[in-house]
Amino acid sequence: MKESILGIPTDIVTLDEAVTRVQEMLNDNKPHFIASVNPEICLAAQENNLLKEILKAADLGIPDGIGIILASKLRRGQIRARVTGIDLMQSLVKLAASEKKSIYLYGAAEGVAAEAAANLTKAHPGLQIAGIQHGYIATEQEGEVAKNIAASKADMVFIGLGSPRQEFFVSHHGNATKAKVLMVVGGSFDVLSGRLPRAPQIYQRLGIEWLYRLLLQPTRLKRALNLPRFLLQALVKKS
Ligand code: UDP
Repeated sequence: MKESILGIPTDIVTLDEAVTRVQEMLNDNKPHFIASVNPEICLAAQENNLLKEILKAADLGIPDGIGIILASKLRRGQIRARVTGIDLMQSLVKLAASEKKSIYLYGAAEGVAAEAAANLTKAHPGLQIAGIQHGYIATEQEGEVAKNIAASKADMVFIGLGSPRQEFFVSHHGNATKAKVLMVVGGSFDVLSGRLPRAPQIYQRLGIEWLYRLLLQPTRLKRALNLPRFLLQALVKKS
């Protein structure tokens, strides 16, 4: 079941249900796109039709963050569980290791995805890393990246380029990667590499990881201010 907020569909799923859905995607013979639905991307999609169409076409849109839950509550919707991108990615990496599926990491500054891959392999011995590519390349080179992913025969691709670049990559080159599952993960490689600390449990439990990130990176203030703007629009606009 999906719920639409500002015209963007979000799946009403728990973390376990999302993992089950991905398990099914891995047995299907076409690429699937997992989007992260958060207040910022919903607002951005209001002004960017291509982004909006990409999000509407996603096979799974996870309710990534407290903002989506609050908006759903305000609209008397049913989304009550948060599924953050990094939590789903970690669960999918575990799934990949146990089902002998290979993963490809694309994005973040040079060296970061490699460090993330090393940490993931340590946590899941036997995990198959099909390939790694940093995210600071020209857009014109992205076709080449997709070809490399196809050649690597990766089953799952995690893309951490920031939004909307990561969603555009999936839209333009997702099919060419020939992967079964493509998931956008924002800045998750920075956290998984250990370069950026994840918010302590208390912030995670209260759903205020955004506050922790704001304290670490005060330049995100402008982005954080999108939350009240989003809630107001979600309350007054029909989707
Ligand atoms: N990034 C990238 N290529 C670019 C711009 C950004 O690989 O051209 C990476 C950046 O290094 C970071 C991620 O994309 O790892 C974006 O992180 P951000 O915190 O903006 O994403 P969020 O988690 O908020 O969605």
